[in-house]
Amino acid sequence: MNTAVSQQFDAAVTHLRAGLAVVLVDDTTGVCATGDVSLVMAAERITADAVAGMGGRTSGLLCVALEESRADRLGLVPMVGSRVERPLGDVFAVTVDARSDFPVVSAAGRAATIRALADPHTRRTDLSMPGCVFPLRTRPEGVLRVASRAEAAVDLCQIAGLEPVAVVAKLVDREGMLVGRDDADEVAAQLTLPAVRLTDLVRHLRRTTSLIRRWAQARLPTAYGAFTAIGYESTLDGVEHLALTFGSIRDAGRTLVAVHHECLKGDVFGSADCECRTLLAQSQQQIRDAGSGVLLYLRSPLPTGFRTGSCPDGGQSDRADVPYDVVAQILADLGVGLFDVTAGSALRPDRIEQLDL
Ligand SMILES: [Zn+2]
Repeated sequence: MNTAVSQQFDAAVTHLRAGLAVVLVDDTTGVCATGDVSLVMAAERITADAVAGMGGRTSGLLCVALEESRADRLGLVPMVGSRVERPLGDVFAVTVDARSDFPVVSAAGRAATIRALADPHTRRTDLSMPGCVFPLRTRPEGVLRVASRAEAAVDLCQIAGLEPVAVVAKLVDREGMLVGRDDADEVAAQLTLPAVRLTDLVRHLRRTTSLIRRWAQARLPTAYGAFTAIGYESTLDGVEHLALTFGSIRDAGRTLVAVHHECLKGDVFGSADCECRTLLAQSQQQIRDAGSGVLLYLRSPLPTGFRTGSCPDGGQSDRADVPYDVVAQILADLGVGLFDVTAGSALRPDRIEQLDL
């Protein structure tokens, strides 16, 4: 993370802890990218003044993002059924009010509801539905699973050491038009608020969160010697990857590493359309000849093989979907420090620095 991004992060954490807003910019380009710019505040620190202040700078639709487990505990079921709900967009729950001494629609009443949603002691019976506050249910693993504003807002509160419940509202300009991401920095500067980009948050969490779980280990004798097969599950998508180790890894000064993408038609059936089976065998041979090394066999979250044409260009290294963060964490778990890459590896030379072991 560069210095400017790091300073914005530190400022964002300080602001959230102090009950101040931060600007969250959706700069993603994925299928659920919106380009929206939102104000985010920690729900547990919200006040009536803050609710009133947010109303003037935002669309007025104040949402409260909270983890779906908390939403379930509070009875905040999805507003619409899963059949029509967009799988990656905002998941609105049924609107809600908390019992308080203030009219529920007033700034003080809505602030009381928002704080109640962040209070771990709040029970289902403390709330009434429908109400004036719009909860947004966030998915497990947060912004690492779904790069969306609600998940990002909750994760920011968590990073700040606060209850993972956040107020989120889209910023508007003086004409009431939504602020776009190209204007985010200017607007943040006018409001003297730190701005956090969604892609920076994802990058930060990928470095600081465990993305793998080691789940099995077995001896694997092969035509190229006896390997040890170690299974890893990616906690983000549940995909099971396999590391085949040969010899002693932790004692090696440099480790020979091969990364191979699963290719059903090539690996299993020896398809002549691609070189995958040959590359796999060569990798095992090279590692055996080197005396030690790691062959990382990456499975795909999508069906591989004939229907999807998983290997259209015949090779491994042109395929762009290597989960470099997952690879880095598996290699680190195996004790790999310095390493060399085999010929034909799926790792792209220009992206190896992303492993940053
Ligand atoms: Zn192939």
